[in-house]
Amino acid sequence: MFELFRLRSRTPPSDAFLLEQYATLRRQIPLMYALMFINVLFLGIATFHDVPLGMSFGIPVALSIVIAVRALLWFRRRTIVAAPADIQRYLRGTLITAGLLSAIFGGWGSLLFSEQDPVRSAAIALYVFVGAMSCCFCMQALPRAGHLILLLGVMPVTVRLLVSSDWSLFTVGTNFLVVAALILRTLTTSHTGFKQVLETRSGMIAEQERARAAERIAQDLAYRDPLTGLRNRRALSERLDQFVASRQPTQLCLFMLDLDRFKEINDSHGHGAGDRLLQAVASRLIAIVGDLGHAYRLGGDEFAVTIETAPDGSFASTAMADRMVQDMAAPFLIHGFTHHISASIGISIFPADAISREMLMQHADIAMYDAKSLGRSRYSSFEPAMAAKLAARAVLEREMRVDLPANAFQPHYQPIVSLASGSIVGFEMLARWNRTDGATVGPAEFIPIVEECGLIGELTLKLLDQVCIDAADWPNDLTIAINVSPIQFRDPWFSEKILAVLTRRVFPSRRISLEITENALISDPIAAQRIIESLKNQGMALALDDFGTGYSSLQHLRMLPFDKLKIDRSFVRNVDRDDGAYQMVSAIIRLADSLKLSVVAEGVESLSVCQTLQRLGCREAQGYLFGKAMSAVDTNLLLHSSRYRWPTAPPGPGHSLLATAPEPATLVRESRLTG
Ligand code: C2E
Ligand code: CA
Ligand code: CA
Repeated sequence: MFELFRLRSRTPPSDAFLLEQYATLRRQIPLMYALMFINVLFLGIATFHDVPLGMSFGIPVALSIVIAVRALLWFRRRTIVAAPADIQRYLRGTLITAGLLSAIFGGWGSLLFSEQDPVRSAAIALYVFVGAMSCCFCMQALPRAGHLILLLGVMPVTVRLLVSSDWSLFTVGTNFLVVAALILRTLTTSHTGFKQVLETRSGMIAEQERARAAERIAQDLAYRDPLTGLRNRRALSERLDQFVASRQPTQLCLFMLDLDRFKEINDSHGHGAGDRLLQAVASRLIAIVGDLGHAYRLGGDEFAVTIETAPDGSFASTAMADRMVQDMAAPFLIHGFTHHISASIGISIFPADAISREMLMQHADIAMYDAKSLGRSRYSSFEPAMAAKLAARAVLEREMRVDLPANAFQPHYQPIVSLASGSIVGFEMLARWNRTDGATVGPAEFIPIVEECGLIGELTLKLLDQVCIDAADWPNDLTIAINVSPIQFRDPWFSEKILAVLTRRVFPSRRISLEITENALISDPIAAQRIIESLKNQGMALALDDFGTGYSSLQHLRMLPFDKLKIDRSFVRNVDRDDGAYQMVSAIIRLADSLKLSVVAEGVESLSVCQTLQRLGCREAQGYLFGKAMSAVDTNLLLHSSRYRWPTAPPGPGHSLLATAPEPATLVRESRLTG
């Protein structure tokens, strides 16, 4: 019996099942109590004259009070959202009440039964039976309560009928028994059906949930970059489309980011480190953008950011770009290595710069290329002129790829002179591109494109090869300075390739001087050091170019075995007029002296500058005053004519331009003419 009051069967009912049971009972129980009350009322009235007052009035009133209290309780529960634990409690209470009420009702019925004649007895038994049966039906959602009602409510009166000496009463009792058995069966099957429907329904709900979750995951995969978790290109396209279509009064700023030097790290440290770096970049971007907008990874080392601003929000966009440039330039610590990268960013704004999604993306890309071409680690906001510049650049690139194998790139030579002796001590090789249309393009324009196309190594070797041919007949104390791009230090075979050319042409390495800028030492100092040491070991000289414009770090000067410092022409130009430039040049010369390095001043255009440099103790100089970069033919003419005019130029050996004449530029021109 105790088992009967325990709702927990071997497998506890699921929460969904309990909730459904509760919902059904909430609907049925008040109805059941109403039925029961009517039955009690009729039974009381029907027996009012035949039994003592306690039996026909006291018991029905007591029953009615219990019924009213319980009915009220369940009625109130109609609005209560109960937790599964509460429902379990309610159901236990309902079971106990069902047992109690059925026992009272059944007992009362069987007591009334004994007082009556057979016809009345049958009528009372029917009241009890019908009342109990209707309760049973209402309790379909809680079959154990139904069982209790059958057992305690119906059985006492049925037993009385069965044991009655009256045949017709006996048959009624038998009938009750059969019907009770049928009801029992119906209760069980309907409950099983109820359970099955619920299971099917909850199965269907679970299936729907699973389908929805799978859809969400698929959706997420379609719109997310799996490596960084950032939104992807598709998400960006949709965001832009949505903004363009929404015709909002605000504006949308699109930032296109391309990482500088990422490929280098990916190649040298492996793809694992590359992936970690991309993830770290994504985290930084998320932190920068916060809830102002969204960050995206478009693939490779390309990222994008969108932010929505007020129509005059150009300050917000440049502030954001500034922060991104700064934060991306801060070092990244990955697997114990510190990596230095940076980002070039292009900004395009809807609707100021573009009227469609495609145009917005294209213009942000164009602005990004502009930022790259201006030296990386910076941002550019789109301007219509950029598109034309980019188109011209694309033409240049196409033609460059055709012209490079056709030897259209030729070395030119600019003399470097000794300020003490006035003689040529060497030349700086400066590349020139002789285009098919007859125009000559300078290296400032084409070197960045050659670098970006990854052809700088090939170009340098071709030029060096030509230098070896051109300079073979020149006096062998003249050195030739070759400019090396920072990115060439990424090639681990760089020194071997240079040496291979010199060996093939049987050109002495001591006649070659390499000019590098400090940028080459920043991105990968260890690699640069290794390559430079191997070249130095072969006897080549090393010059630090454009000194004063970059980091001008003493550490860089100490790090590598430099022979020479080249003072940038931005200081040299005004050294005779500007006190700041004078102080700077003077400081560099003293620094070089203390480090036992020789100094070359670049960009000497006037005699007054030349004389100031001489006074400051600068040993060598280069500039238009002594001659512009000239072709190999002109260089030969110069060397020969100088030889003829100053075969033994005082005070020292060499090929004097200055020593015997006060107007050297005229002399160079003269010497070329006479040569
Ligand atoms: P740089 O190494 O600083 O070369 C000196 C530049 O200053 C040359 O420009 C030269 O023509 C110019 N210059 C020389 N004297 C004067 C002067 O008195 N006044 C003025 N205003 N300018 C003077 P250029 O030939 O246009 O070369 C530009 C840069 O391109 C070079 O700067 C060098 O960094 C790079 N470059 C040239 N050839 C090569 C090359 O073969 N490989 C690499 N990687 N870079 C090269
Ligand atoms: Ca140079
Ligand atoms: Ca220079």
